[in-house]
Amino acid sequence: MSYTKPKFEEKYGNFIGGKFVAPKGGQYFENTSPTNNQLIAKYPRSQKEDVDMAIDAAWEAFVSWGKTSATERASVLNKIADKLEEKLEEFAAIETYDNGKPIRETVNADIPLAVDHFRYFAGVIRAEEGSATELNEHTVSLIIKEPLGVVAQIIPWNFPLLMFAWKVAPALAAGNCIVLKPAEQTPSSVTFFVEVMSEIIPAGVLNIVHGFGPEAGKPLASSSRVKKVAFTGETTTGQLIMQYASKNLNPVTMELGGKSPNIFFNSVMDHDDDFLDKCIEGAVLFAFNQGEVCTCPSRILVQEDIYEAFMERVIKRTKAITQGDPFDMNTQVGAQASNDQFEKILSYIKIGKEEGAEVLAGGEAYKASGEYEEGFYVQPTILKGHNKMRVFQEEIFGPVVSVCTFKDEKEALEIANDTLYGLGAGVWTRDAHQLYQIPRAIEAGRVWVNCYHDYPAHAPFGGYKKSGFGRENHLMMLGHYRQTKNMLISYDKNKL
Ligand code: NAD
Repeated sequence: MSYTKPKFEEKYGNFIGGKFVAPKGGQYFENTSPTNNQLIAKYPRSQKEDVDMAIDAAWEAFVSWGKTSATERASVLNKIADKLEEKLEEFAAIETYDNGKPIRETVNADIPLAVDHFRYFAGVIRAEEGSATELNEHTVSLIIKEPLGVVAQIIPWNFPLLMFAWKVAPALAAGNCIVLKPAEQTPSSVTFFVEVMSEIIPAGVLNIVHGFGPEAGKPLASSSRVKKVAFTGETTTGQLIMQYASKNLNPVTMELGGKSPNIFFNSVMDHDDDFLDKCIEGAVLFAFNQGEVCTCPSRILVQEDIYEAFMERVIKRTKAITQGDPFDMNTQVGAQASNDQFEKILSYIKIGKEEGAEVLAGGEAYKASGEYEEGFYVQPTILKGHNKMRVFQEEIFGPVVSVCTFKDEKEALEIANDTLYGLGAGVWTRDAHQLYQIPRAIEAGRVWVNCYHDYPAHAPFGGYKKSGFGRENHLMMLGHYRQTKNMLISYDKNKL
């Protein structure tokens, strides 16, 4: 199957109360494709009044949605999953054009993972059981989980539809209504989603307000009429959002940045076999999704006695990565999501060089050809240095990896944990002791052992340290979207 760039309307509205509505102030912003720097469409530059309108619609819908049975909500979630699957190719093409990521990723990862997310939460809520305890012979304690009401969700641009699914599926499953603000860089797939789901999701249950962070995101996160704020994005933005939400004592969940270590112990080179090939692929995953992944394995740590031999293979494999036309199924690395992002990544490569890092691969912008000449592409880049350098400490969010060596387990752990962040980590070894003890000692919420970048819906995901708190995926997520009602019932006719 071949894929081409999708078609768009000239402009879109916010999605409020089940229909597209123009922003009250009449202002729009232009959204361009990073693949070729061409205009995609105009989207509302929403303000507080638009956010308030969406919150009104959500509360109105909550009157009935909040009372639906788990069976009814599961049915809606399953229908969403089926529709998403039916239109998988269309969603994938939109995501590729809007974000720049290659079509092989959107077809094989972004959209199927989103489908699975809705199915998973549809199943989980059907399987739940309640809790009743007899406190004494006359008294029973019932624990009942209630939805929060209307929740606010703010998402980034790196996995627009998948981050949306991670937030929306559990919130709907728990019986909440939603006002969500997509990232201004990638409004398209979410817009297509509400368009095709309008016959499945009751009006007002899911509302979308487009716009910029300070103009639309801030009033949403600050509103005293939302009961929770779920945020994914940069650590510094997360700090602001916590301040806004704290005024209302609103609970927040924070999925923030990372600088994940990917550690290769010398046993990986004991044999030249399939496992070693897998390890090399695992090291090269820093370039996956153009490095625009919160868990990007952006620091490679290699045990010093295998450094030369191991890195020779990693460099060779990195140089073989296919790059360019995002609509070509063979392309492995596409365009960075925006010009800002492109320039930020190049400036970090420059900083790395100035700090004395050695460029082992890449190091420059990539010139795509033909229709994509004006797009924002960066070569997968390997920098060799030490962990005190800025390129080892700061989130670059591009296809750039910083490599250093370590002597033994102790030093590997010191380097791995010498970071503000604690989101992901990778450990690669054939040693049974290391594959348990090292992950336990790493300060991160998700440690992959002899694998990386796997995101099943039923495994909890989230950060330690400045990578945030709260979890996504997994049924424990429902706890973030519900409150606990305890009913104490007395069957005693006489005694109080
Ligand atoms: P960002 O923080 O700039 O923006 C995220 C969202 O917040 C956008 O919708 C933006 O409009 C909004 N926003 C910005 N300022 C705001 C404000 N003052 N008030 C309210 N909303 C505001 O992040 P980004 O550049 O879009 O995304 C990249 C970041 O996201 C990286 O740091 C990455 O690591 C992180 N991320 C984390 C996870 C995770 O699960 N931990 C997943 C994906 C991305």
